[in-house]
Amino acid sequence: MRITVAGAGNVGLVTAVCLADAGHQVTCVDTQKEKIEMLEKGHSPFFEPGLEPLLEKTLSNGKLRFTTNPKLAYSDAEIIFIAVGTPAKKDGSADLSYIYAVSYSIANNIENNVIVCTKSTVPVGTNDEIKQIFQYGKPRHLKVDVVANPEFLREGSAIMDFYLGDRIIVGADNPEAAAIMEQLYLPLKIPIIVTDIRSAEMIKYASNAFLATKISFINEIANLCEKVGANIDEVAYGVGKDKRIGESFLQAGIGYGGSCFPKDTKALVQLAGNVKHPFELLESVIKVNQHQHSLLVVKAKEMMDSLKGKKAAILGLAFKPETDDIREAASITIIRELLEEGATVTAYDPIAIPNAHKLFGNSIEYTTNIRQALKDADFAIIATEWEQIKHLPLDTFAVCMKEPIVLDGRNCYCIKDIQRYPITYVSIGRPVIS
Ligand code: NAD
Repeated sequence: MRITVAGAGNVGLVTAVCLADAGHQVTCVDTQKEKIEMLEKGHSPFFEPGLEPLLEKTLSNGKLRFTTNPKLAYSDAEIIFIAVGTPAKKDGSADLSYIYAVSYSIANNIENNVIVCTKSTVPVGTNDEIKQIFQYGKPRHLKVDVVANPEFLREGSAIMDFYLGDRIIVGADNPEAAAIMEQLYLPLKIPIIVTDIRSAEMIKYASNAFLATKISFINEIANLCEKVGANIDEVAYGVGKDKRIGESFLQAGIGYGGSCFPKDTKALVQLAGNVKHPFELLESVIKVNQHQHSLLVVKAKEMMDSLKGKKAAILGLAFKPETDDIREAASITIIRELLEEGATVTAYDPIAIPNAHKLFGNSIEYTTNIRQALKDADFAIIATEWEQIKHLPLDTFAVCMKEPIVLDGRNCYCIKDIQRYPITYVSIGRPVIS
């Protein structure tokens, strides 16, 4: 099929590359000229495991092309995926300006009947608004079907998730459009669930809100474990063995981040507020997460009285391993608060430094060498569970640091292992080792 993907971000680029690899003729359009120029040369603007080889392959076999030209992108497409950003506005609601802009651009440039398929995460009712744009904005003789097809890929395993996702949601009013989408996805052998459009939109928000709730729940249990002398490792294991609960998303830590959970939970709270249904449970989930981001700075302050003039090593900047994305990462809150307290910061990350530099400039030091970050540090905070950090020989802390005080926000190490080294070790929901 002739497919166009609007937006060459984490979702759009992965979708474009994977559909091209499946044999479709794909055009990926973005408004950012620099991004498109980079992509035309086979370079991804962000890190995603396995993406660049597929990008090079599909570019060289002619299945994939990039453009900034909307006419070229939309005029003869059979399916157009919308994968532009829907960032949070100041009040927490979703900023739909990119969605509206791309919809008008599609309406102005199509020359054939087309299915427009929204992959972006959009509040319930948005696809109805998109339909209105097409109803009045497109050439009269053309037919546009709007389908909601929310995306569930995770950064860091996005290619695998495209091929091995748990389900594909197709929200459509027109059964013919739904059938074409089912046909497109059939080779993936992933269960396809066809719903009405509004339910499809809600499935995405409900899924992310539930996962965020699971994280904040286990973090609150971990905080409680510390106060009553229980150990979250054992508690989470015992709880997760219940099949009704499941083992995933029960890792206690300093909270979720990234481009989705924080913004989608806030957007759902806003959405609920708009229909006069206060979503108090989700409001608490968000509050717990904010508290969790600051937790280790509070603990460091309690341990050292004042952080003024102290040298802090931050291990990990990305919001999770295998990505260079730092959007809403716990590390951002931690670094900001440490700088406010008068500490100096040296941050380690294997790939996220360029993105962190855009935010913090020269107010902190950066290194891709863990030992360098730890050198002469008064304390260290682990903010991302990178494999490089998890597999660090534990004597490194005592050898490199001025004071081997380690505050581990991701419970990277086994308490029994830590006990063999002269380290003061504070983690989440587990006994303090000193
Ligand atoms: P992103 O910010 O990485 O990329 C969006 C891209 O769209 C940018 O490159 C931007 O230049 C481009 N764009 C903006 N306006 C455009 C226009 N008019 N025409 C063409 N391109 C345009 O965003 P993302 O992380 O890929 O997320 C996209 C959507 O998917 C969001 O709604 C997000 O919530 C959702 N989502 C993201 C993830 C994730 O892990 N990142 C997972 C599932 C769903």
